[in-house]
Amino acid sequence: MVIAKARAVDGPDKSFREAEIRRRNLDKGDVLIEIKYAGICHSDIHTARGDWGEVHYPLVPGHEIAGIVTDVGPEVTKYKIGDRAGVGCMVDSCGECENCLKGEEQYCLKGKIDTYAAVDKYGEHTQGGYSTHIVVPEDFVLRIPESISLEVAAPLLCAGITTYSPLNHWKAGSGKKVAVVGMGGLGHMAVKIAHAMGAEVTVLSQTLNKKDDGLQFGAADYYATSNPETFEKLAGSFDLIINTVSAKIDIDAYFGLLTLDGTLVNVGAPGEPLSLNVQSLIGHRRSFAGSMIGGIRETQEMLDFCAKHNIAPQVEVISADQIDEAYERVLASDVRYRFVIDTSTM
Ligand code: NAP
Ligand code: ZN
Repeated sequence: MVIAKARAVDGPDKSFREAEIRRRNLDKGDVLIEIKYAGICHSDIHTARGDWGEVHYPLVPGHEIAGIVTDVGPEVTKYKIGDRAGVGCMVDSCGECENCLKGEEQYCLKGKIDTYAAVDKYGEHTQGGYSTHIVVPEDFVLRIPESISLEVAAPLLCAGITTYSPLNHWKAGSGKKVAVVGMGGLGHMAVKIAHAMGAEVTVLSQTLNKKDDGLQFGAADYYATSNPETFEKLAGSFDLIINTVSAKIDIDAYFGLLTLDGTLVNVGAPGEPLSLNVQSLIGHRRSFAGSMIGGIRETQEMLDFCAKHNIAPQVEVISADQIDEAYERVLASDVRYRFVIDTSTM
């Protein structure tokens, strides 16, 4: 058993504090990872603050994990001590249902086991990456390509795959016009990935404050959604819209930006329901879809794609004492574009 140093929160309105958590002894197929960096995803904030309902406290969030393998169970075949390893939003699934067999473990029919705020098959509450060590079955560990440094690899494990998967599924590529709504952690990765896939990318942000960055990430255009003219000018423009916004927005306004047969995919997951007028969809045979992270095979494919295309998130590395401050900045849309905790400061 390993005692890991961690940062935990004890309630929806509490600050982070130092904590120690026990990581189980290695089971046959388990890998022990010494975590070097952990990204801060807006989902961590939704969970810690109770936006999505009640959770078990103390809670150690973090599902964008990058580190080094320091021990392996007796039946592990894919990893050895010293390997660079990543862990994303899930640490287990049934492995037997139709969806798991298809490599879509995130949609496991018996329920995937989340990296934190879940109960695993040992009956233990899972605790995430804001910590120095984690034990994970090897089938839920990702290999981080040598060319991707660990601090930028971490956000790929959630922000990267959550945007890569729908872009891949809805075939963003050459000849496709893609809009990304919200340019935070997920949004800036969506811009980079869609651009690398060959799509023409437009950012729809609340203001033009981050326009230079958006164009540098690969967007061809950048518009402010606070300006009503944006919605007139861009009406009927996009084959695919990826909405990454963490709050409730007037989604009908965005359906009007889709072409005939266009699709708006929501990856943003606000606590409140969105309401829509079905007329916005009927008019041009439009679709409204959702997408959750990606399977393990696709996550590895995304990491290899990012290595091949030299894609990495823009990160701000922080110490463990800065987590509360980082949360406030994320909530204020003041993130450029992912906070990543250096776990050596735990
Ligand atoms: P983030 O870094 O905070 O980015 C969200 C962006 O949305 C902000 O930067 C801002 O962009 C925009 N925004 C925020 N509040 C807004 C408002 N009231 N009105 C309009 N725009 C607003 O968050 P993130 O980590 O990228 O996560 C985004 C969402 O995706 C969260 O809800 C998270 O839980 C969810 N998520 C879902 C999955 C999944 O599997 N589906 C996975 C990970 C995360 P601008 O400043 O450019 O306007
Ligand atoms: Zn996430």
